[in-house]
Amino acid sequence: CLCVGSYSDGDAIKVYVRVRPLTQGTGLTTDGDRNLCLTVTSPHTVRLHSKPEPRTFTYDHVADMDTSQESVFSSVAKNIVESCMNGYNGTIFAYGQTGSGKTFTMLGPNELNDFSDELRGVIPRSFEYLFFLINREVERSAGAKSFLCKCSFIEIYNEQIFDLLDSASASLFLREDIKKGVFVEGAVEKYAASAAEAYQVLSMGWRNRRVASTSMNRESSRSHAVFTMTLESKETGQEVVNIRTSQLNLVDLAGSERDQAREGLPGISINRSLMCLGQVIMALVDVSNGKTRHICYRDSKLTFLLRDSLGGNAKTYIIANVHPGSKCFGETLSTLQFAQRAK
Ligand code: ADP
Ligand code: MG
Repeated sequence: CLCVGSYSDGDAIKVYVRVRPLTQGTGLTTDGDRNLCLTVTSPHTVRLHSKPEPRTFTYDHVADMDTSQESVFSSVAKNIVESCMNGYNGTIFAYGQTGSGKTFTMLGPNELNDFSDELRGVIPRSFEYLFFLINREVERSAGAKSFLCKCSFIEIYNEQIFDLLDSASASLFLREDIKKGVFVEGAVEKYAASAAEAYQVLSMGWRNRRVASTSMNRESSRSHAVFTMTLESKETGQEVVNIRTSQLNLVDLAGSERDQAREGLPGISINRSLMCLGQVIMALVDVSNGKTRHICYRDSKLTFLLRDSLGGNAKTYIIANVHPGSKCFGETLSTLQFAQRAK
């Protein structure tokens, strides 16, 4: 555990709640509120139709069913990509039960392979914006600044790390280095010089993830997919060369639903990373409120991997995806509560 005192002057973590459409695509049901378990009451509040009293939850942002992918990107990722350009690490998580729209939010529709599609998600849009900023900086500096982008893409399944950019590799381990911080030893790193090159890396990893879920039996709803972009900027001044490194982590988390079949069985830790993430987040919230807390990054693969990008000066946004259907009341409540604890 890392003992941390107060350092933050603002929110440790920002939370964006996204309500997915009741049915897939545009075919919304018109049965009215009868089938809904919640109502978005303002851009910051959502009312859950709980019994006996409805409950209102407040977040940095609440996005209703008709919210566009562009709007999610602008609210959540723009700032984080900008601060990444300024040398800060950032992490965006998609949290929620299976079917709540995590992959849709981060990547796009499942069948997406066309990144000009209006429905492309936060990850491809972040690439576009990052390279837009990079090109602008390079131009403005008249060559004094240069940038190098490296992508890695891994999956954490049952506390084992698999390389989505090398489907033949065995499971990998985390290492710590004074200069590099925490990293996955032996993970493939692909250079990307444009958004188009970054899309290619993303697509390849996503295809491998789908293949592994059938051939290796790694159910993707139970795994965390972590895409990491490492940005190195180099500025040549009159006498010095200034090199800065930052990381942007884009994470499609495992489904947050309780896994009843495995619950309580010893030695099975599929959701250990998700549980520890909740604990680390709550500790970070306490720290930002001025308390001194132990933050147990090392207790799971996900939290240890993201140690240098969670808390401190790093920017973190959680997108809590919820399903508005009344049948999803229980899981929606539990997601809203998780998201509330991050505030
Ligand atoms: P998860 O990754 O949380 O399991 P998905 O992103 O796969 O959920 O979403 C389940 C289905 O619902 C997919 O077919 C997806 O395209 C669709 N979907 C989710 N959110 C939206 C949305 N905001 N607009 C349109 N379709 C959506
Ligand atoms: Mg998914």
